[in-house]
Amino acid sequence: MQTIFSGIQPSGTLTLGNYLGAIRQFVELQDEYQCYFCIVDEHAITVPQDRLELRKNIRSLAALYLASGLDPKKATLFIQSEVPAHTQLGWMLQSISYVGELERMTQYKDKSTGKEAVSSALLTYPALMAADILLYQANLVPVGDDQKQHMELTRDLAQRFNNRFNDIFTIPEIRIPEVGARIMSLQEPTKKMSKSDENQRGFISMLDEPKQIEKKIKSAVTDSEGIVKYDKENKPGVSNLLTIYSSCTGESIEELEKKYEGKGYGDFKQGVADAVVNLLEPIQERYKALIDSPELDTILDEGADRASAIANKTVAKAKKAMGLGRVK
Ligand code: ATP
Ligand code: MG
Repeated sequence: MQTIFSGIQPSGTLTLGNYLGAIRQFVELQDEYQCYFCIVDEHAITVPQDRLELRKNIRSLAALYLASGLDPKKATLFIQSEVPAHTQLGWMLQSISYVGELERMTQYKDKSTGKEAVSSALLTYPALMAADILLYQANLVPVGDDQKQHMELTRDLAQRFNNRFNDIFTIPEIRIPEVGARIMSLQEPTKKMSKSDENQRGFISMLDEPKQIEKKIKSAVTDSEGIVKYDKENKPGVSNLLTIYSSCTGESIEELEKKYEGKGYGDFKQGVADAVVNLLEPIQERYKALIDSPELDTILDEGADRASAIANKTVAKAKKAMGLGRVK
């Protein structure tokens, strides 16, 4: 059976973009693959985090994974910082990464531009992400479109390590969904929707109340043409709403364009809001039952144990290949 790894940062509450671009694929894949899904809290601290907020977001993310349909009997769910092998291999991979290639990452540029103090971890983050994936010898990594560049680097680092030391890493493939791979901000539809966006109106959180969802969609930036038509270049706002609508209901974009022919943006936005609420409401119900349950802790404890068993073996091989420690 092939292996899958993917992670999400507890850097805020999950957005609709995270669900459509990442989590939904995870749920579809768990029956056919050996899956490892991670709450990558060590990635979250590459930018400043409030201690209590981070703790809360970690637990909330775990509950949302499960509420979205992840089955802990099929997939391993765990917290990155509870499996020390991640930072161990991350450091080894940093030693074979070049500053130049890390500086070329667009996420680094986006997250560091205009900031007064940028942590060195924000720069070296992709080496830790590579470690996350390579520890489990993952064949496939389901992610949104924004992670393409990091995935290329992961493949390069794996190849570089294998060539320089010993052939121990599986070279992973990226898997991007056909629709929903890049959900855009509601306020700036040329920028991707992000859970760490300072402008709360730019994203729909998976835990937003129906009223909030409606309000955010009604105030989403569109254009003055008044025609519901997919045209990413000239109508990024309307196109993004069409993508969201289609991803939530399964109706094709063409069907939706027909449905709203001759109707204004008011009707259309109401349709989008209803589609999103219908998708998220059952997930929110399950979330409420899980968030304070002791079952959540048991799942995370077992997940960390299962993940460590595999990850420690890979670290031992990597150490041996690099000549770290003693021969035992
Ligand atoms: P942050 O702003 O803190 O980076 P984020 O919203 O980008 O948060 P991540 O934790 O970095 O979320 O990414 C988790 C997963 O969600 C990744 O697979 C990523 O590709 C996917 N993803 C993130 N944003 C979107 C989006 N707008 N559309 C589709 N997929 C997305
Ligand atoms: Mg991100």
